[in-house]
Amino acid sequence: MSHHKKFYINGQWVAPSQANDFDVINPSNEEVCATISLGSQADTDAAVAAAKAAFPAWASVSHSDKLDFLQAVLKEYKKRADDLAEAMSLEMGAPIDLSRTSQVGAGIWHISNFITAFKDFKFDRMLGDHAPNDRILMEPIGVCAMITPWNWPMNQVTLKCIPAMAVGCTMVLKPSEIAPLSSIVFSEIMDAVGLPDGVYNMVNGDGVGVGTQLSVHPDVDMVSFTGSTRAGSLITKAAADTVKRVALELGGKGANIIYADADEKAVKRGVLHMMQNSGQSCNAPSRMLVERSIYDAAVETAASVANAIECAPADKEGRHIGPVVSELQYNKIQDLIQIGIDEGARLVAGGLGRPENQNRGYFVRPTIFADVSNDMTIAQQEIFGPVLSMIPFDTEEEALAMANDTLYGLTNYVQTTDSAKANRAARALRSGMVEINGTSRGAGAPFGGYKQSGSGREGGLWGLDDFLEVKSVSGWVE
Ligand code: NAD
Repeated sequence: MSHHKKFYINGQWVAPSQANDFDVINPSNEEVCATISLGSQADTDAAVAAAKAAFPAWASVSHSDKLDFLQAVLKEYKKRADDLAEAMSLEMGAPIDLSRTSQVGAGIWHISNFITAFKDFKFDRMLGDHAPNDRILMEPIGVCAMITPWNWPMNQVTLKCIPAMAVGCTMVLKPSEIAPLSSIVFSEIMDAVGLPDGVYNMVNGDGVGVGTQLSVHPDVDMVSFTGSTRAGSLITKAAADTVKRVALELGGKGANIIYADADEKAVKRGVLHMMQNSGQSCNAPSRMLVERSIYDAAVETAASVANAIECAPADKEGRHIGPVVSELQYNKIQDLIQIGIDEGARLVAGGLGRPENQNRGYFVRPTIFADVSNDMTIAQQEIFGPVLSMIPFDTEEEALAMANDTLYGLTNYVQTTDSAKANRAARALRSGMVEINGTSRGAGAPFGGYKQSGSGREGGLWGLDDFLEVKSVSGWVE
C-alpha cells in the first residue's frame, strides 16, 4: 500500500491539489500508524467530474459485462484479504482474527450476495397483464457519494460501492478519515479489475470538508451515508437544496428481550454479541431486557461472562476484544459510564478506566450495568462501546413497550422457546430487523432501520434497488 497520501480519481492515483496531512492513529498503542491527506474542494470537484463523465458509458455496459466486473472484484478482494484484515486491525483496532473473519468476511458475503441478486435482476419489467403497453424501466440514479464510518469499514464500503457499480452508477467514496487505510486497499482492488476510468473514485477527507462538499455538490445525484445520526441529519440538510436522494444507515439502541423460557445460552450469547467489535456496532444488543423470574441469575451470568473477556492489542491473535477506535470515543464512553453510575444504575462488571493489563491504548473494560431503567441516559444514548444495560420486566407488553421506547429502530432481538411469542414480538417491534434466538440474517436480507436509525435498505435485492430510479413508460410496443 503505497498510496496513503493520494486519491484515486479517473483511474489514476493522484496527489491532492493542496497538502493537508492527517495522522491515522493505531488505537492499540496511540501511535501514528500512517499519514493521509485530507482533500479539498478541487479534489472533490475532480472526482465528481470524473464520475459524471463516466456515467453514460458505464450505465449502458451490458448486464453480463457488469457481472464479469463484479466477479473480478470478488476474486481480487479475496486475493487482498490479508492486506484488508491488517489495515482494519491497524486503523480501528479490530483484533486480527476478528478482522480476518468477520470484518473481511462481511465484504465477501455482501459482494457474493449482490452477485446472486444481480444475476437475475430485472431492470426492464412489465407493469402487469392489465397494461401490456406499460413498461417499468429501472435505471441507475447517476453519480453517488458514499460516506462511510470507521466501525465496520469494508462491510459498509462493499454495501454501497458494489451495488452502485452493479446497477450502472458511478461514484466517489469518502471513507472515514479515522479508518481510511482499508479503503486505500479497496481502491487498489477496484483499480486492479480494470473498471473504466471514472466509474469508481476515492477521496479522503473529513466531514466538514469533502463530506459536506459531496453532500451539496450539484453533480452528485445521491448520498449514501452510514454513521452517526448527527452527521446523517447534517447531510440531509446539506443535500436538500439540490434535492438529492439521501440513504441513511444510522445508530441503534437494540433491545434483547430475554423471556424466562429462553434457552440457557441466551444471556451469554447476548453479552458476547454486545462486546463483539468492542461494542462498536450500530446493531449491538445494548439493552438486555430480562423477565424478572430469571433476572438475578441473568445478572450473575452476564457479569461473569464480561469479567472473563480479555482486552488486548489488535495485532494479537485470539478471541479477546480490542481497544475502541479513538481517544474521543474512549472519553465519550468513560463519560457515559460515569453518567450511568451517577443516575443510579448498579455496576456489576467493568467500570471506569482501562482494564488492569493495559496501560496504553483506548481499551475500555467490558462493563455491565444492572437495574437500569429505560429512561436513564445509558438506556437511551448509543454508547458505541462495550457497555451493556440490563433492565428487568414483568410482562410481555411491558417488554415490547420498553424495547420500542427509543429514538432508534435498527435491530431488536428476542429469546424464547415459544415461537408464537417470538413471532408476536417480531411483529410488534418497531425496527428494520428482528433476530430470534441468535439466528442471524440470511444471505441477501435487507439491512436498515426505522425511526432515527435511518432510511433505505442495504444488501441483496434491496441494496440494488436503493441506487435505482424507476421510470414508467406508457405506449410501449414490443
Ligand atoms: P460520524 O457520523 O461523525 O462519521 C461517519 C462518516 O461521516 C465519516 O466519514 C465522517 O467523515 C463523515 N461525516 C461526519 N460529519 C459529516 C458531515 N457533516 N457531512 C458529511 N460527512 C460527514 O461518525 P463518527 O465520528 O465516525 O462516530 C461518532 C458516532 O457515530 C459514534 O459514536 C456512533 O454513535 C455513531 N456511528 C454509527 C455507526 C453506524 O453504523 N450506525 C457507525 C459509526 C459511528
